[in-house]
Formats: sequence, C-alpha cells, structure tokens
Amino acid sequence: MDSNKQLDPTAELAAATRALRMEIGRRKRWGAKRTAAAIAEEAVSPELIPQPQPKAPAAPEQAPPAPIAPRIPPKAAPPLLKEQLQTSLPSTPKSLPCSDLGDLRKRVSTCSRCSLGASPGRSGAIVGRGAPRPRLLYISDHIGPAEHTRQKPLDELAGTLLGKITTGGMGLKVEETHVTSAVKCALPPGCVPSPSETASCKVWLEEEIRLLAPSAIVTLGAGAAHALFGNDAPGGKLKGRLLHYKGTPAVATFHPRDLVARPDLKASAWADLQLLLPSLKS
Ligand code: SF4
Repeated sequence: MDSNKQLDPTAELAAATRALRMEIGRRKRWGAKRTAAAIAEEAVSPELIPQPQPKAPAAPEQAPPAPIAPRIPPKAAPPLLKEQLQTSLPSTPKSLPCSDLGDLRKRVSTCSRCSLGASPGRSGAIVGRGAPRPRLLYISDHIGPAEHTRQKPLDELAGTLLGKITTGGMGLKVEETHVTSAVKCALPPGCVPSPSETASCKVWLEEEIRLLAPSAIVTLGAGAAHALFGNDAPGGKLKGRLLHYKGTPAVATFHPRDLVARPDLKASAWADLQLLLPSLKS
C-alpha cells in the first residue's frame, strides 16, 4: 500500500466490518461443528457410559433366622379304652404281701400312690399303734396336723376318750387294742382326703388288717366306714348294725372327736359298740 495514498476512514471501517462478519460466521460454523462432534464424542465417552458396577461384596453369610414355629393346637387325648382306664387306677403294689408290720411301715413311709405322698411337702405317713394281735381294731378316718404332731392316729382328746370307751364300755385293756387310720399320710389343717386318696391307701389298710387279724373292727367316722366298706354305702346304712369285713365282725360309729364336740352322740355310739360285745366275749 502506498503510504502516501490518503486513507479513507469510511472505506476502511467498511472493510474492517466485512472482515469481522466473515470471521464471526466462520467461527459460528466451526463452532457448531465442534459442538456437534464434541456431543457425539461425549456420547461415547467411557466416563459417561454407564459402566457395569462392580458387584458389592457379598455380605457375610448369616445364619438364617429360625423358622417361626407354627402354632399347633395340642392334640386332644384320645378317650381311654376300658382296659387303659383300669390300668390307670391305682394298682396293687407288686411287692405285696408285706411280711410283717415292720415291712408294712417301711413300704408306707416311701409310698407315693396318691398326691399326699407324692407332694414335695409330704409330712409323713403314720401306720397304726397298739397290739400286734389285737382283740379290737379301731380305724380312724385320716391324719391331721394334731395327730401328726403326736405321731399317733388320734389327737390327745380323741385318744383319751377312746381309751375310756375301751376300758369302761367294752371291758378291754387298751393294750388289747390297735388304732390305725384309713389314710396314712397327714393332711393339711382342715382338709379331708379325697375319694381317690382314700381308695389309693386302701391297699395298705387291707394289708394292715390281714397282718393284725383282729377279733373285731370299729370304724370311727363316716370316712373310715366308707374307706373299708365302700363309697356307695351311705354312712347311715352302715351305722347301727353289725357288719362284717372278710368275716371279721365290725361296726361303724362316730369318731371320738365328734363325741368330744357333741357329747349327746355318746349314747348312739354306745349302742353301736354293744353290737360287738358278743364277738369280743367269745
Ligand atoms: S396316703 Fe396312703 S396311698 Fe397316699 S401316699 Fe400316703 S400311704 Fe400312699
């Protein structure tokens, strides 16, 4: 360019404007192309491609939870057959018969044929006291706390009264008699034995009678009468008449504790005992 040529500012401005527009257009075109290429490139960029995630380390194996036990309703017990029912009742101990009263006492002391002997609080069993071959055997109904304390089948008041009846009314010496209880294990205060407890203990009572072989028997109280002669017989039918137990004469009368509490019953008791006098004289 000729440095001496006079510059036309308007022409120069127009030339510069054209050049600027051309550059802007070129950049726009290339810029768009780069952008598209970049987008395409970015679309396959390994950083943006979702990579399969490495598997998380397996959690340490834990013991499977215990299965919840299904609630199974308890099976109802099948009804007992007649034969099973019979074997569920107290049976006669295989070790019977006892050789003597000492043997009987030993066996009774460890007996658990009923709940009285099987309970943890068992307070002890009492076998009879008196003559080993008595003329008269008294059978009381059960052992209570007072009898257990004395270790005798009767408490003090009942025992004293029975002694007077024996000597004064029956004409016998106390040493000629024997006193025992239908149920051998002591009961808690105010309790009476259940029919099943009485039935369980009958095997020992029968064995005791066999070993003692008394000339006559007196049951004292309804419980004792039912223990010896059975539950079916009401006390009223047993009292007031001469009975027999396996051939041995017997009567059922009031318990001495009832006579202590009700002296007006003594006359009736005396009438019962008189039924035995002929057997005792022979
Ligand atoms: S009450 Fe008689 S049958 Fe029952 S445990 Fe005592 S001794 Fe055995």
